Amino acid sequence: MPKLYLIGTGPGDYNELTGNAVDCLNDSDIIMGYSKYIELISNIIKGKEVESGSVTDEIERANTAISHVLSGKNVSIVSSGDSAIYGMAGIVFEIIAKHEYDIDVKIIPGITAISSAGSLLGVPFMNDFCSISLSDKLTPEDIILKRINAAGSGDFVVALYNPVSIKRTELIKKAREIMLKYREGNTPVGIVRNAYRESESAIISTLDDFLNYNIDMFTLVVIGNSSTYTYQKYMITPRNYDNKYNI
Ligand code: SAH
Repeated sequence: MPKLYLIGTGPGDYNELTGNAVDCLNDSDIIMGYSKYIELISNIIKGKEVESGSVTDEIERANTAISHVLSGKNVSIVSSGDSAIYGMAGIVFEIIAKHEYDIDVKIIPGITAISSAGSLLGVPFMNDFCSISLSDKLTPEDIILKRINAAGSGDFVVALYNPVSIKRTELIKKAREIMLKYREGNTPVGIVRNAYRESESAIISTLDDFLNYNIDMFTLVVIGNSSTYTYQKYMITPRNYDNKYNI
């Protein structure tokens, strides 16, 4: 039976791909995805039929991939990070379920930005955390704000995916204001841009100051909880071993 592989390529290029992802790319007749992510893995898909496009073509890409699979081809759709975390797997599953297609779909997990960006910051996610996407294209702003409030009051470490876009620059300011209701201004905030890619940067700032840094659509913003602290260039969210053991 032909396969539809939903591949997470991780944050960067070949070194962050899993062996499983490489095997499934090799097993594919056609590779589809946003051109920027296809480019990152261009070395290992030489000779394959490639259909790349813009980031806004998601619905068309999913439908085309499904029709290729129905006509007997093995197809990979690549997403950066993990395909099932704000990636292409979402739209594919919604279409398949809605139209009751019976096709063989496999999700190949990849290293999501929480893991890759987190690794550059130290151990910010060592206690309970949540991710919130600030993209308001498909989620209304009032729901996003409600979730930020809940994360703040629950004292979760918060990873903000899609913190800004070219058109959307105000929501991150509102997110900061809400977090300041629950946390001190000196709470550590990590700003990781292009983790594991050229021009990678990781900065640790504070809730008061982090908006003074460059934050764009290739950035993950990580807001510490009330116990998160910094040591040297690291952000540490304790699990509180110190309360119970001699460390
Ligand atoms: N499927 C992806 C997320 C797609 S949403 C994943 O699992 O990582 C796109 C957002 O992810 C970006 O706006 C940014 O917030 C974050 N992101 C993805 N790759 C990143 C990287 N290499 N460095 C920093 N942030 C990244």
